[in-house]
Amino acid sequence: MAHINDNYQKLPGNYLFSEIAKRVSKFQSENPNAKIIRLGIGDVTQPLPKVCIDAMKSAVDEMGDQKTFRGYGPEQGYEFLREKIAEYNYKCRGLNVDAEEIFISDGSKCDCGNIQEIFSLDSKIAIADPVYPVYLDSNVMAGRTGDLKSDGHFEDVVYLPCTAENNFSPKVPDEHVDLIYLCSPNNPTGTTLSKEALRRWIDYAKKNDTVIFYDAAYAAYITENNMPRSIYEIDGARDCAIEFRSFSKTAGFTGTRCGYVVIPKNLTGVNKNGERVPLKNLWLRRQTTKFNGTAYIVQRGAEAIYSDEGQAQIKNLVGYYMENAKIIREGLEKVGLTAYGGINAPYIWLKTPNDLSSWEFFDLLLNKANVVGTPGAGFGPCGENYFRLTSFGDRDNTIEAMKRLDQSLGLKAEG
Ligand code: PLP
Repeated sequence: MAHINDNYQKLPGNYLFSEIAKRVSKFQSENPNAKIIRLGIGDVTQPLPKVCIDAMKSAVDEMGDQKTFRGYGPEQGYEFLREKIAEYNYKCRGLNVDAEEIFISDGSKCDCGNIQEIFSLDSKIAIADPVYPVYLDSNVMAGRTGDLKSDGHFEDVVYLPCTAENNFSPKVPDEHVDLIYLCSPNNPTGTTLSKEALRRWIDYAKKNDTVIFYDAAYAAYITENNMPRSIYEIDGARDCAIEFRSFSKTAGFTGTRCGYVVIPKNLTGVNKNGERVPLKNLWLRRQTTKFNGTAYIVQRGAEAIYSDEGQAQIKNLVGYYMENAKIIREGLEKVGLTAYGGINAPYIWLKTPNDLSSWEFFDLLLNKANVVGTPGAGFGPCGENYFRLTSFGDRDNTIEAMKRLDQSLGLKAEG
């Protein structure tokens, strides 16, 4: 008998996005003429930067010529890309990260989901609430979380509430945990952790021998100069933090797929004999066994953003979405809603009016304005009464969505 991994059945299921799809399709079939605008899902809409297209085309030509053809690539990623990342994202900013500490992947979702595998099953984890669902679900699948309780939390997880009262910046726990997931700029709240906040996390991690998983998938969206783009901007982070980055939102690679992880060479965990083992070696072992590497063509495309022209093109791309973010924030404020985020992040997190539940607000927005967003409750219990809009739509749709909100919602709501 093939017994399944029962942990999978502890997952609440694909509830959030399948429920959204179900409600949208019901509404569309009952209102065939409605032109629905989707500001819900976190996918991008604008094409790849030209530098990436040109680089990938020429990589295709290399693959078509026996003299320059490439087969299996290095599992850690090509040195040409790792060197450029180290230079542009770290060394240029005075940060000490070497190419040999960088692992190229096909995107951050896999990295954030798989990293827990190199840690023991009895590791205690802490995650923010609300949060990007991959951190929690991958630990549920692994069997590290215990069962789901009636309050929507898993019994063995330490949750870090992110609410308006703490400016969506989670407080360090009072108890010991082994692994902590932090996401900044944050999906879904659009909040960025300050240097002072990160300082507190690193102090906690060093005191408790904790490893921080720092998801900086949206680092390119930080506009305020005093906000840290990398956790390594804070002294001591190399002793306790792994950083995740992605080309998805930086360069429109959601369909092309590329990301990377930084694991400092001095960062260690403890084995059963109490000896310190470099985490980097375990991750390399894991990747060489289970990961096929990122396509050469894609890595050439990613490399292309690391040039003057490439940097200018991604700045334009990010600027386009951030202008949408501004339009959304201003649109929400105009109708009297309280909105957070959208300044150093492509997400806008709004408080539902009159204490409507996240799903009630979803239905209201769909029915009255034909606009789709994401109910905050889908990201964790503390997301209840909140709602996420993204700035990844195209400009005309974003403007139109705010116009409809103004005309049809006319809330003048209390936050
Ligand atoms: N981390 C966060 C916080 C995200 O929101 C996403 C994507 O939405 C990812 C990671 C995954 O990005 P990728 O497309 O690189 O897998």
